[in-house]
Amino acid sequence: MADKQDRMPATKRPERSPESKEARAERTEPKICPECRHAFQGSGWDGIDAHWKAKHDKVMPYAEAWPMLKAGTYKAK
Ligand SMILES: [Zn+2]
Repeated sequence: MADKQDRMPATKRPERSPESKEARAERTEPKICPECRHAFQGSGWDGIDAHWKAKHDKVMPYAEAWPMLKAGTYKAK
């Protein structure tokens, strides 16, 4: 029963989850700071913590803002 699956050659396995266009764009598009429109270079939110703490910590503490930034639900005041 399980024997058949075990012998299936690895090369014939279907791709598990082909990357969607959206997922790819998500990774390459620069993230923009909603407070000052600063574009983060590199992968994703690299450097947001230092940036936020230096510039916008008074607007909202980073610990509070980060989950919203990540989710894209942060609204600048
Ligand atoms: Zn900013």
